[in-house]
Amino acid sequence: MMTVTQWREQQLTGWGLRNVSRCRVATPEHIEELPDILEQACLAGHTIAPRGAGCSYGDASLNDGQIVLDLSHLNRIREWDPDSGQVTVEPGVTIDQLWRRTIGDGWWPFVVPGTSAVTIGGAASANAHGKNNWQIGCFGDFIESFDLLLPSGQTITCSRWDESDLFHAAIGGLGMLGIFTSLTLQLRRIYSGQLAEVQRAYHSLDALLDGLEEATYWATDIVGWIDTSASGTQLGRGLLKAGRDLFPNEDPHPERTLSVGGQYRRSLARMLPGGLVPRLAKPMTTRAGVWAANRMQWLRGQGRKASARHYQTYVGANFPLDAIPNWRDTYRPGGLIQHQSMVPAETAASAFKEFLARSQKAGIAPSFAVLKKHRPDNFLMSYLVDGYSLALDYPVRRGEEQRLLRLLHELNDVLADHGGRCYFVKDSVVTAEQVRRMYPAEKLAQFHALKRQYDPMGLLSTNLYRRALTME
Ligand SMILES: Cc1cc2nc3c(=O)[nH]c(=O)nc-3n(C[C@H](O)[C@H](O)[C@H](O)COP(=O)(O)OP(=O)(O)OC[C@H]3O[C@@H](n4cnc5c(N)ncnc54)[C@H](O)[C@@H]3O)c2cc1C
Repeated sequence: MMTVTQWREQQLTGWGLRNVSRCRVATPEHIEELPDILEQACLAGHTIAPRGAGCSYGDASLNDGQIVLDLSHLNRIREWDPDSGQVTVEPGVTIDQLWRRTIGDGWWPFVVPGTSAVTIGGAASANAHGKNNWQIGCFGDFIESFDLLLPSGQTITCSRWDESDLFHAAIGGLGMLGIFTSLTLQLRRIYSGQLAEVQRAYHSLDALLDGLEEATYWATDIVGWIDTSASGTQLGRGLLKAGRDLFPNEDPHPERTLSVGGQYRRSLARMLPGGLVPRLAKPMTTRAGVWAANRMQWLRGQGRKASARHYQTYVGANFPLDAIPNWRDTYRPGGLIQHQSMVPAETAASAFKEFLARSQKAGIAPSFAVLKKHRPDNFLMSYLVDGYSLALDYPVRRGEEQRLLRLLHELNDVLADHGGRCYFVKDSVVTAEQVRRMYPAEKLAQFHALKRQYDPMGLLSTNLYRRALTME
């Protein structure tokens, strides 16, 4: 059994490296240790933050001076059925581990976020989305059932039919109602390890959004990149990448592509020594570097070769940044803050133009901007709307942090005014008052009622929860 003294003091960060926290970290090796850890923490008057791979950009799995329960060692795939495509896993299993196990049998997760490093427990707690969100839904839509360890020490099995309220609240519940200890997911059948992709350039945000809608007639995975250096009538111009699964028999060599080896292509970035990429890319985080890198990407996207139809592996299409070793270190020492806003279709163009224009006016253009299309779902704390999202990466530069924080605060006001919602696991700045303007009051009230019911002592807590989700 783990004792209090086995919690080690450790400095943790959010994935963006800007949020730093000294915590007491417990890393259990077996699910059976969890109730005892909860009990000891409760007796010692501590709070506990569940943590998966720590891929949330801000403070979703940080807990200043308190306990962080690192679940990454609970990473066993318990059952895999290659006939039905159902898999049961411990919460610390990563998306990377999962697809490696299932691709040879012709199965891929329905929903994957932009990095394969996330854990299944973390993806469920965030209710992650992928580039196909607009069409098939979110991560939680493909969870069949899960076991949730409650702060009381009791474990409840939840599905759409049993403990339905808790099922719909714990998915997307940011770990504040209980700890996932086992999850059963449905995967999707694929007939090739490749997608057919095309890329097109659009000279304004309106044109890019129109292009995105047109792509929905044939594509499943759609993502836009926006050139943050463009302004005036070209504000929001960008490149749209759209892809679809291959049909049965379309791939002449499915046995090759439906394999772990078949997912990896040789790339220059992969061959470089780990520390080199951040050193080479560092100038791109300066103001001039951000401008130049965006301009270059836009120009590269104009060529005929860039827009030719091509085949891309699932790994290449879904996790492009995973192929660049240590790329986030480029942002050291200040780190980066990501601001991902979900905005209804009717107001999205106006909100996004305002975000881009205000950032440029403040002299803090984002280094990277990504556009996606979404659809709503019926999970209690749903951040997804019938509309679009824009994810903006802001380098935190020395001497500029306070100005950046003021800008992001302003952007959240604009977001609330446009009927939009923040995405908590990407967020570092939203206030509880802004959240109350973004999220429906009755949903927040239901969430807090469940929190009081299942966690009356407030055992589960995080920096994010205390910052953004407390009642007034
Ligand atoms: C490069 C990059 C790209 C990304 N792209 C996307 C994207 O396209 N779409 C998207 O939706 N997200 C995306 N994300 C965000 C990511 O999917 C979420 O932050 C996800 O929650 C991270 O999972 P994790 O295992 O790292 O969990 P952590 O970040 O450690 O924790 C996330 C939340 O889950 C809780 N939690 C973790 N494990 C458990 C558990 N077992 N039981 C209960 N609660 C738990 C934590 O308390 C916390 O609230 C991206 C992140 C990165 C770094």
